[in-house]
Amino acid sequence: MIIKKTTSLCPICLEVLDAEVYEDKDKIMIRKECKEHGKFENTYWSSGELYDKAKKYGETGKGLENPQTAVKSQCPENCGLCSEHESHTILGLIDVTNRCNMKCPVCFANAAVSKRLYEPSFEEIRQMLRNLRNNKPVPTPAIQYAGGEPTVRKDIVDLIKLAKEEGFVHTQIATNGVKLAKNPQLAEDLKEAGLNTVYLQFDAVTEEPYLKIRNRNLLSTKLEAIENCRKVGLGIVLVPTLLKGINHDQIGDILRFAIKNIDIIRGVNFQPVSFAGRTPSDEVEEQRVTIPDFEKYVEEQMDSQIKVEDFYPASCVTPISHFVEALEGGKPEITFTCNPHCGTATYVFVDKDKIIPITRFIDVDRFFELLNKSTESLNKGGIMAKAKVLARASVELPKTIDMSKSPESIDIKNIIAQIFKERSYAALGEFHRNSLLVSCMHFMDPWNFDHDRVKQCVIHYAVPDGRIIPFCSMNTIYRPEIEKKFSKPLKQVKDQE
Ligand code: SF4
Ligand code: SF4
Repeated sequence: MIIKKTTSLCPICLEVLDAEVYEDKDKIMIRKECKEHGKFENTYWSSGELYDKAKKYGETGKGLENPQTAVKSQCPENCGLCSEHESHTILGLIDVTNRCNMKCPVCFANAAVSKRLYEPSFEEIRQMLRNLRNNKPVPTPAIQYAGGEPTVRKDIVDLIKLAKEEGFVHTQIATNGVKLAKNPQLAEDLKEAGLNTVYLQFDAVTEEPYLKIRNRNLLSTKLEAIENCRKVGLGIVLVPTLLKGINHDQIGDILRFAIKNIDIIRGVNFQPVSFAGRTPSDEVEEQRVTIPDFEKYVEEQMDSQIKVEDFYPASCVTPISHFVEALEGGKPEITFTCNPHCGTATYVFVDKDKIIPITRFIDVDRFFELLNKSTESLNKGGIMAKAKVLARASVELPKTIDMSKSPESIDIKNIIAQIFKERSYAALGEFHRNSLLVSCMHFMDPWNFDHDRVKQCVIHYAVPDGRIIPFCSMNTIYRPEIEKKFSKPLKQVKDQE
């Protein structure tokens, strides 16, 4: 059964092709045909039922008032952001170098393979940060420095300070942790500069997967990096790259590790590996981990302490943004309008020796339904209705909570009442205490590329020529062009380390 028509890419030549997304024996597949390279049929989502569930939480965003590029061709050839893009940037990314202190075969950024140095100057980075903050009507709130390995830059601490000066509320670095492990002072300096989160590549709790994925046993390095962050109170999100047959059986152990270290680990964001066009199609099919696969592995490996049904698409939280927007008299708010098939997440609370997913004690659907009603009342009644709506929400919303199932260590009803009655950010902090965000984002590759997803993307690279390019377009199409245009031959550049 055909579900929708979209466009995708030829995995070999990257030409934009018409494509069909269809259901086949409860599996969602994508097919397309390139005149030169033939037909391709690949898995898109491995469960039709979960595909339908996620779809309910989709919402089209409003995009930008000030797009950077014109629409001259079809998506994704106009990035960006062009006027057809449907979401604003929530997380901005800047590759601050393509140098790296490791050579991993699965690297997105393909560091140093090109034999050219891509390393924007401090002033170029300032300009890219400004471009992101200049997005209208919602300036980009969060920035991640990536690479290559961002900590090989000597000015990484100053770059964090710079992001804070330019108005980013949230800053993070994507790192392999090698420098943080060797140099405790770096963790302290980064923390002092205003770094909020270390986005730490962390593939396993045993040695073997590191040897296979990263060509080197890095487990002790990761543990040392975590210790050095703990000493200075620098929050960590673990980022495992998932490969079937290599570490997909470690999901439960990684989550247990995170829970044991919940004083410093804020979340785990699993990222199934993306495949380059040169990977044979049958290998792609064999090794592909989709979002439904991930949810199923979590349930199996966590002995049902976290179940498939505890996961919701990342986009399900849009009612919160609309409510705050209505409360603020229509001032546009950060809204998570990424495609519902891009990511999945749940919060779990750790209560003594129990793990309690948020969905076990909050009726999430009812909660958002009530929130939508409050938003409607605010929009109809104007600012005069505010006190009344807030008072009602602070009574009605806690009714969606089953206190007998909630963690004993936090008074969740009171926290929600305070958030809505007093708009207390301290209460929001209390909500996050002892909780872990468990998420998975399935980045696209040319095999499963779907322009419906990329045009709703909320994670965008800023590049030196002023463009802002959605993550999945950048890594499938644009990266070689950008790196070539703004890099110099490596042998001409003195090693700056
Ligand atoms: S991905 Fe977004 S910015 Fe790029 S061409 Fe498509 S709509 Fe435009
Ligand atoms: S980065 Fe890719 S997977 Fe994530 S929101 Fe953007 S398009 Fe979707």
